[in-house]
Amino acid sequence: MIDLPTTAMKPGTLTASVLSEGEPITRALTPAIHVAMTYIRDADNGYSSGNVYGRADNTSVRQAESLISELEGAAESLVFGSGTAAATALFLSLEPTHIVAPQLMYWALQSWLRQSPRFGHQITFVDMSDLEAVKAAIRPGKTGLVWIETPSNPLWTITDIAAVAQSAHVAGALVAADSTAATPILTQPLAYGADIVLHSATKYLNGHSDVSAGVLAIAKPNELWSRVRKMREQNGSVLGPFEAWLLARGLRTLDIRVKAQSRSAEVLARRLAKHSAISGVLYPGLVDSPGHRVAASQMMGGFGGMLSIRLKGGPRVAISTAANVSIWRRATSFGGIESLIEHRSSMEGEGSLCPADLLRLSVGLEDPDDLFNDLERAIARSA
Ligand SMILES: *Cc1c(COP(=O)(O)O)cnc(C)c1O
Repeated sequence: MIDLPTTAMKPGTLTASVLSEGEPITRALTPAIHVAMTYIRDADNGYSSGNVYGRADNTSVRQAESLISELEGAAESLVFGSGTAAATALFLSLEPTHIVAPQLMYWALQSWLRQSPRFGHQITFVDMSDLEAVKAAIRPGKTGLVWIETPSNPLWTITDIAAVAQSAHVAGALVAADSTAATPILTQPLAYGADIVLHSATKYLNGHSDVSAGVLAIAKPNELWSRVRKMREQNGSVLGPFEAWLLARGLRTLDIRVKAQSRSAEVLARRLAKHSAISGVLYPGLVDSPGHRVAASQMMGGFGGMLSIRLKGGPRVAISTAANVSIWRRATSFGGIESLIEHRSSMEGEGSLCPADLLRLSVGLEDPDDLFNDLERAIARSA
């Protein structure tokens, strides 16, 4: 049933080669940035270039989209000014419907969904790792969308994409997968039956912590997709040419970054799991992690660069550990080349389901030995 993309090239080849075909007029090796927001109309009153006005899209956005579509095995992609702009464009393009979403997911999107009744939607939050609970939550003929996130923030729980897609499709619902933490290097959700993929491209796709961007990719464009495209244009939420160019540039090293970050995260997870001050390491790559079996079947070549640790000493020791690191940077967000540490429940604030003794770790490209030693020293100082 799994229909993996039949693209002849591997992701590393795609990312390195797709945007270096040479620009047609100058023969520049790397893509140009066209900043024009308006384009010349032909004398016969047409627009033979296809370019009209920059609120619809721009050449840099289209370049990033074509590469992302190839990586996801998608028919089309749409790049937005942020991950939340992309996701909410999808939610707002649905006719009022019932949405099933995870109890634990990226908190800013969850807060948006909580107020989605204002936009006509009904919403049910479930434990997405519990297939029976998911089936019970889906209302045949009524549920329009099942939203999943795997691995999901900030506990890195795993959702079985193929199983959820099957249950959703039987009931007539679409499945959209927030695959921000997995990236198309490790998982291509469309191949497992998801209809739409979301990425906060602010994270790994750009990878350098210097662009806000988001993307939706679709397996088979439909009427909903046309509405999403229209909404991007009408709401003015497309990414600008400079940022789109930076995103495309970041994408070109995605494969090697994600693989290196996954390797380091796995090394750290194993070593941290043995640490006497740590009560739990949340990482789907650990064989005793609850989602490991499913993760191993749908994540290829690694389990991602994100993990969380829980400190036996509780919230005080967690916050103090974050205060005592010197290589890890205390900051929110993830997926950049620099390693970040975050006391997540402080960030999520009131109503957060994130345990207060938890630190979220985004593993960058530093040497894993240095990262481990830095964290170990910080924990020792915080005891
Ligand atoms: C950051 C993030 C988002 C939102 O993306 P922005 O680019 O910050 O708007 C959505 N989903 C996940 C999993 C994220 O980590």
